[in-house]
Amino acid sequence: MENVVIIGAGAAGLTAAIYTARANLSPLVIEGMQPGGQLTTTSDVENYPGFPHGIDGTKLMDDMREQAERFGTKCKFGEVTNVIFDSSPFTIELNGEEAIKSKTVIIATGATAKYLGIKSEQRLIGKGVSACATCDGAFYRDVPVVVVGGGDTAFEEAIFLTKFASKVTIIHRRDEFRASKIMADRVFENEKIDIQWNCVVDEVLDDEMGVIGVKIKNMLTNEISEIECKGYFSAIGHKPNTDIFLKYLETDNVGYLIADGVKTSIPGVYAAGDVADKIYRQAVTAAGTGCAAALEAERFIENN
Ligand code: NAP
Repeated sequence: MENVVIIGAGAAGLTAAIYTARANLSPLVIEGMQPGGQLTTTSDVENYPGFPHGIDGTKLMDDMREQAERFGTKCKFGEVTNVIFDSSPFTIELNGEEAIKSKTVIIATGATAKYLGIKSEQRLIGKGVSACATCDGAFYRDVPVVVVGGGDTAFEEAIFLTKFASKVTIIHRRDEFRASKIMADRVFENEKIDIQWNCVVDEVLDDEMGVIGVKIKNMLTNEISEIECKGYFSAIGHKPNTDIFLKYLETDNVGYLIADGVKTSIPGVYAAGDVADKIYRQAVTAAGTGCAAALEAERFIENN
């Protein structure tokens, strides 16, 4: 029987691991499909306190993991396929087989990048369509690419892609950006970035080698045009990873867990990081709630 099982190994999960490990609870972290979480898909993290010159996202997460392991955190790869939260100890089913029992659970499963969902886009994922510029940007040296979206992620991805691509076109459905002013200024100043306002992607075009362009529609004029590109990056936000918890825990209309601070409606089950945060969604806030969830789990174990 485990004291604490932490589902997810991003900033929230690993911070919870550092704290519960230092409380001698020997936590078990389940690392899913994207160990390290969203920060491993970003380039330089410039807003995490303590790094005046920024730090590479993957390096930051590797360091957090090492820090957690130093105090006795156990890490295990696998997909949590089911949970049983209506009897104590809780059960966490791994890969549809192994059933892990635990006194407490910290859910830190984060959120996953969204795609538009059009057929051609889905078919071409991995063949020119991506949701992670940091992971795939280097494949697009000296060729044009497009980025869909108008938020901070889209802008960050677009700026990052200018390191490789010959030209980056941002396609945004409105005539106003959602991104922060500092990111917008960087985009406007970048000569390699072009912006298609009020436009939506109708189709991703391809040949036998992969993506060759996108067909876009101007929402104001209904005009259809094509943009040549070899890479297509979706940057339209994220979906919280909460499907396996829906049977037991309440979510909002988007799917974010509803919690009172980090406490879910089930005593002993806590939510940390982006999985329950649609407002701040920052690495440092995820780490903060990871810490809070760890302290709550520790108290729960002491009191029960
Ligand atoms: P976001 O802020 O929700 O922006 C999503 C963008 O995609 C919006 O511009 C939205 O358009 C567009 N979009 C959504 N669905 C669409 C659809 N079906 N078709 C076309 N466009 C669609 O998401 P995000 O950019 O991933 O950022 C999430 C949070 O993380 C934000 O709080 C952000 O500030 C933060 N973040 C911070 C940093 C940083 O500080 N370095 C980096 C990345 C993200 P509309 O504007 O029309 O709704």
